Amino acid sequence: MMSVKIRVTGIVQGVGFRPFIYRIAVKNGLNGYVRNMGDAGVEVLLEGKGENIEKFLKDLKEKKPPLAEIYETITWSLEGKKKYKSFAILESSEEAELSGSAIPPDIAICGECLKELRRLEDPRYEYFFITCTNCGPRYTIIERLPYDRKNTTMQEFPMCSFCKSEYKNPFNRRFHAQTVACAKCGPKACLTTKKGELIRHKNPIQEAGRLLSEGLIVAVKGYGGFHIATATTEDEPLVRLREVKHRRQKPLAIMARSFESMKSFAEVSKEEAELLTSYARPIVLLNKSNNYFLSDLIAPGLHNIGVMLPYTGLHHMLFDKVDDPAFVMTSANPPNQPIIKDNDEALRKLGSTVDYFLFHNRQIDHRCDDSVIRSHDNHQAFLRRSRGYAPAPIILKEKGKRCTLGLGGELNNTACVLLGNKVFISQHIGDVENIETRDFLKNASEHLIRLTNSKVETVACDLHPKFTTTKLAQDLAEENGWQLIQIQHHYAHIAALMVEHGVKEIIGVCCDGYGYGLDGEAWGGEILFCTWKFPDFERLAHLQKQPLVGGDLATRYPLRIATGILHRKADVQSWLLQNQQHFPYGEKEIEIILHQLEKRSKIIETTSCGRVLDAVAAVLGVCYERTYEGEPAMKLESAAIKGRDVLKLKPVINGGVLDTTQLLLEVFENRRGYSKADLAYSVHAYLARGLAMLAIEKALENNVKTVGFSGGVACNKILASVMRKVVEVSGLEFLVHEAIPPGDGGLSFGQAVVAGFS
Ligand code: ZN
Ligand code: ZN
Ligand code: FE
Repeated sequence: MMSVKIRVTGIVQGVGFRPFIYRIAVKNGLNGYVRNMGDAGVEVLLEGKGENIEKFLKDLKEKKPPLAEIYETITWSLEGKKKYKSFAILESSEEAELSGSAIPPDIAICGECLKELRRLEDPRYEYFFITCTNCGPRYTIIERLPYDRKNTTMQEFPMCSFCKSEYKNPFNRRFHAQTVACAKCGPKACLTTKKGELIRHKNPIQEAGRLLSEGLIVAVKGYGGFHIATATTEDEPLVRLREVKHRRQKPLAIMARSFESMKSFAEVSKEEAELLTSYARPIVLLNKSNNYFLSDLIAPGLHNIGVMLPYTGLHHMLFDKVDDPAFVMTSANPPNQPIIKDNDEALRKLGSTVDYFLFHNRQIDHRCDDSVIRSHDNHQAFLRRSRGYAPAPIILKEKGKRCTLGLGGELNNTACVLLGNKVFISQHIGDVENIETRDFLKNASEHLIRLTNSKVETVACDLHPKFTTTKLAQDLAEENGWQLIQIQHHYAHIAALMVEHGVKEIIGVCCDGYGYGLDGEAWGGEILFCTWKFPDFERLAHLQKQPLVGGDLATRYPLRIATGILHRKADVQSWLLQNQQHFPYGEKEIEIILHQLEKRSKIIETTSCGRVLDAVAAVLGVCYERTYEGEPAMKLESAAIKGRDVLKLKPVINGGVLDTTQLLLEVFENRRGYSKADLAYSVHAYLARGLAMLAIEKALENNVKTVGFSGGVACNKILASVMRKVVEVSGLEFLVHEAIPPGDGGLSFGQAVVAGFS
């Protein structure tokens, strides 16, 4: 007889891990117990024959539940004689010794639950919140660890005798499933008017689906917050939705009724299919197919569309009584505010936006937006890493020196905690410009610190003196006695890439819209040399500086940037006058712009790659006004998708500076000679080749073997793939982000690793 104790850490709570341990212990004839250890994983005590313990350990490794992830298993032998007569699952331990066990993200409805949802004789037939140990909400309902029902927002729903019998049966799929519920004991759904008046219907969810199909706008409460939903095949509901949401052009995500129906309007590759049907069920950007028949108002001017599959019983049931191929499902958030999660808040803030509400009465403890991913052939680029992923940690190859909180930048923000070799990135927070998003960031950070039991020593933020997050970092540092470290924006991007892959040095190409430079200027097209000598880096090269006439106005109206770049080389006046309707103040405004450029005084300059793409979009007439972040550049990529490199321009490089003036001039002069698609593609090819050549040159000079690409512009598939080709042909390794967003959603990670490894 032998006796051992095993400590398992990883994603082992809320994923059916203890029942699994129970089953393999019983199967192998072992006695003892298993219990949750708060944030320290689970503890197993085994008594039995040595060979059976061996078999148990083998099963532990090979047969673990689909959602479980094991980071570490520590086993030690115990003295003493036989104490246990059977194997038991003990109550959770209140003690929390170690830190950093993982909290599972919300998981899409599993195949077995879906079958039960549809089986007439099943006790949970058409019960919208059907879940089991393999599926259902987790992060959004967990108030504290250990993950037991009493510590979640399911505590308000005592189990009925049927649910309890399943919960207690170790051989049932719902054994210790904290979210188990049925129509009798669980949360209920209800349909109301926009004023909150109850509409009686025996199946409010199917009725809501019918209203959607008719073109009405319904706010639908889900796992992590409200969606605003409507039909996709007619323009009228979308015109109305865009009007009330004040979204003129920004693409809206849709939910397809099934995988089959999705293929009727979009192209789906093997990689994309895998992402779409994964446990996380993210929104995936798919190319519209040649037979695309949904409204053009869903993603105006873009070649792709954000699609997801239903991920709860409720979503599936919305499609029951209608034959719509898809519904719009966009996050319900008022401008610059976080996604709405509470019923009363929804009534207050959305009452004038929607026609109906589909509520349920389970509280959402933590809001969480849908994730958005784009597949670049064999690589995935996160545009937003949130539901289904957050807050599961990213495991690094090395341990950080100090526990660090990273607060990110300003737009598309996240927070993150570095603890040892794990980085916990929060859900999507959004643009942190006002009090609501600032508070959301603060709460999400505090929750993350609590759940991971982190003892933060350092807080990291951006170098920008005026960011809300910089101010928040200063306040937190003062309040808690933490050390404050400010990190340059593009360095954070490249450091994130380097640490994500565990490479020791890298020449990083970082392209985005804007970041505060070491010199206080506006950077955004940078070649940096980074090593593990944190926090040191070198800026080796960049794009040519170009004037931003009118500062922020130039970002909003890209014709201003184009004018700034072209005015010395070409006669732009008559061209501008032809386009005067695209300037809010017409001719007068053009006159002032040209006058400012002549004087050349007090004009801010930028090396931003995003701004160059914006300028090209304006010259080609693809986009004249930026109504959402990245719009001109995204539309330019869409224009380029079927183009060829007709200009075949040779990159002009002078002393570590890649020329962009000649590039824009060529586009300007040839704008009538070639198609928009070919010119747009030629620009992508020039920039990708030029940046790659600069990076290769610097890699050879510094004897570095790896080149990487980060920043929001790295979501651009054409740039990433051309750059990859050029770099790989030269024999160097080319890296992009896989697990964290290349855009500013990955910034908190970069800041935390720079500060935490310093
Ligand atoms: Zn399930
Ligand atoms: Zn029940
Ligand atoms: Fe950035």
